[in-house]
Amino acid sequence: MELFKVLGEMGHEEVVFCNDPESGLKAIIAVHNTNLGPALGGCRMWNYASEEDAIRDVLRLSRGMTYKNAMMNLPLGGGKSVIIGDPRKDKSEKLFRAFGKFVNSLGGKYITAEDVGTSPEDMKIVVQETSHVAGLDGKSGDPSPITALGVFLGIKACCEWVYGSDDLKDKTVALQGLGHVGMELVRLLTEAGAKLVVTDIYADRINEAKEKYGVQVVEPEKIYDVPCDIFAPCALGAVINENTVDRLKCKIVAGCANNQLKEESFAEKLAQRGILYAPDYVINGGGVINVSIEVSGQAYSRELVNEKLQIIPKRLKEVFQFAEKEGITTARAADIIAEKIFMKK
Ligand code: NAD
Repeated sequence: MELFKVLGEMGHEEVVFCNDPESGLKAIIAVHNTNLGPALGGCRMWNYASEEDAIRDVLRLSRGMTYKNAMMNLPLGGGKSVIIGDPRKDKSEKLFRAFGKFVNSLGGKYITAEDVGTSPEDMKIVVQETSHVAGLDGKSGDPSPITALGVFLGIKACCEWVYGSDDLKDKTVALQGLGHVGMELVRLLTEAGAKLVVTDIYADRINEAKEKYGVQVVEPEKIYDVPCDIFAPCALGAVINENTVDRLKCKIVAGCANNQLKEESFAEKLAQRGILYAPDYVINGGGVINVSIEVSGQAYSRELVNEKLQIIPKRLKEVFQFAEKEGITTARAADIIAEKIFMKK
């Protein structure tokens, strides 16, 4: 990879490679853009197949945070970090302390939080080395339920746009990934009367969803073939790709996963197939809204969160209208709106 060329194209300000042989820490912190404020974005721990995969992931995720924070009207820039390792095997106090020291060395330019593979428990260790951590227990806490609520509001906005009503009763949702966000989204959707068809790669997640919510289950690879109104990707990224896009039997793609489109061209494909795509960084902004309240020092309350979450359906409507008016995809429309917000004149 020609790293500086990629950084130039993607617009990153700074990328830090963190190497601590004593703890085994190999991490990358990417600060994408700080025009609106310090770069806020979670720390992902993942067993990447290659270092290049980790670099690509952190660059894409940090860039997404800039766009997301701008779209959520937050005084924050975009950043992200990744720790290379297996979250089920490689975690230790030493590792997260070493990571905290690297975050601290950036002097507040980057604020970290939990993400896929890390937890508020891990952040309790990180905070011993740096104050630049958000989403701690006892403060704004785990952002996942708020992310789920934001996605739920976003799905309703999509239904309003496509069906002329935001009523979810008897709508079928094919949901991929029963994690922190996905499981809560299943709860909200079933309570609203939607029919759920779900999948996950772990049996314990599936059993919990079946027992609590009586959902229908399919094998992970079959989720793309489920006839439904809404496909909700709530696992990992790049699930809208050359192997899946033509199989989808839905009217709407709307879920919490980051970087759902493998490439931007797949937004075009979805549009051609008459499928409305809710840009991921707009619909999944609830978590960052939640954390931003803690970062700003405002008194945290669910009323304030609920009020701020209304930006999600509002922005989605703005994106859908702009895309329709300009004859462009919703992904492109969202990028243009976000860039207007965070780019310096
Ligand atoms: P999580 O790790 O708790 O859940 C992910 C789930 O997906 C797990 O249950 C996992 O087993 C499952 N999964 C993985 N690969 C799968 C596959 N191929 N098929 C089916 N299931 C699979 O993560 P989370 O916190 O729920 O986040 C989910 C997604 O949402 C991620 O992309 C994350 O970046 C994004 N996101 C999360 C938040 C948040 O507040 N947690 C905020 C914004 C975006």
